Amino acid sequence: MKVHIANHPLISHKLTVLRDKHTDSPTFRRLVEELVTLLAYEATSGVATVQVKIETPVAPTKGEKLATPRPVVVPILRAGLGMLEGMTRLIPTAEVGFLGMVRDEKTLQASTYANRLPEDLSGRQCYILDPMLATGGTLVAAINFLLERGAKDVTAICLLAAPEGIQAVERAFVNSKTPITIVTGALDEKLNELGYIVPGLGDAGDRLYGVV
Ligand code: URA
Repeated sequence: MKVHIANHPLISHKLTVLRDKHTDSPTFRRLVEELVTLLAYEATSGVATVQVKIETPVAPTKGEKLATPRPVVVPILRAGLGMLEGMTRLIPTAEVGFLGMVRDEKTLQASTYANRLPEDLSGRQCYILDPMLATGGTLVAAINFLLERGAKDVTAICLLAAPEGIQAVERAFVNSKTPITIVTGALDEKLNELGYIVPGLGDAGDRLYGVV
């Protein structure tokens, strides 16, 4: 498994504002979108392309276009939804599947309550959007969904990750033949006893959408 931790001053700046508990929801939402676009630029460096012939106003030439089938973007509901706009801005032709997952606040186990994914993902490059890689339970379950359906490779885009979460995903897929990559805006210190990332940013879903 590959892990890429972003190292860019703009990402650090935006993450710092995002972490600040005084940042309001509208600003938080906008920053999440901007951060995803920056992270997605890195995450899609291996996206499949094909050579095409075109004509500029000056001369014929060759170029590259995204290959088909198109990449599949999978936001994990609820908080991953806040990352979708930033991702589709970069790849407007991507197809979007949804996974609804919730973790039990006591056991921290992830369970699936919604699944709108194609049954067959063979040959598809898949991008999971999940802002917080905490225990790793949700991400492991989501990656398993995609591998079972034949995904060609899986890249998870996270805003923040805890070392415990990265290790859990690494352990779960140590024998996987399918390439798996995690791209994160930062690697934080640890998880606390409630399963929150420290220093983190709190509950990403609540900060995006409020407590309902
Ligand atoms: N989910 C969140 O929203 N925040 C955390 O810190 C951990 C999991």
